[in-house]
Amino acid sequence: MSTTETKEFQTEIRQLLDIVINSLYTDREIFLRELVSNASDAMEKVRFQQLSGQDILAKDIPLEIQITTNEDEHTLTITDAGIGMTKDELTENLGTIAHSGSKAFIQNLAESGDKKDMNLIGQFGVGFYSAFMAAEKVTLYTRSYRPEAKSYIWESEGKGSYTIEETDPLTRGTRLVLHLKKDAEEFAKPETVKRIIKQYSSFVPYPVSVNGEKV
Ligand code: ADP
Ligand code: MG
Repeated sequence: MSTTETKEFQTEIRQLLDIVINSLYTDREIFLRELVSNASDAMEKVRFQQLSGQDILAKDIPLEIQITTNEDEHTLTITDAGIGMTKDELTENLGTIAHSGSKAFIQNLAESGDKKDMNLIGQFGVGFYSAFMAAEKVTLYTRSYRPEAKSYIWESEGKGSYTIEETDPLTRGTRLVLHLKKDAEEFAKPETVKRIIKQYSSFVPYPVSVNGEKV
């Protein structure tokens, strides 16, 4: 049986999450742009591995981004067939800060007024955490591209810690389930999601669908 490990976010990430969770913001919907851009980046990386002749898990699955919404369960799910993450990559990429400039960004946010402008979050290499503007809990399923890679579930409520647990084999890539906050239920509506995708993600070089319908 697999065990669930609980890990603490790095201090700066904790500070950022604290702001993201406890503030009001302008342009909250930009979280979707950040998550779609991560999905697209992940597929770009797998394509690069493919071109450089690497042995790749599920090499024939289409490189596309599938978004699904569930109004009854208050969820928004983003699935990509990208490079996925190993256990080490999960801890490194979704627990610590890679870019030095992001500390200044967090400081700046902390000092800004009542309504935070999160629009620049992606430029500081911490776009992923914008998910917590809309989600009270994020569950991420992932499997890295290497044929022997194991599958993992990463989960967090953004409050200081996250868990990682090994799971039964998944297909290659990442599925991100946002359990939406009460005041963010609009993001479980396909019309809303389609509008936001058209507005912010029209440049994405891979097909994007919402509930099976191409955007
Ligand atoms: P950035 O995209 O600028 O690096 P983010 O905070 O958006 O910063 O994401 C942090 C890191 O988490 C990414 O660099 C990537 O390594 C990893 N990551 C996020 N989403 C995905 C995904 N869908 N598939 C694979 N890796 C991801
Ligand atoms: Mg990003």
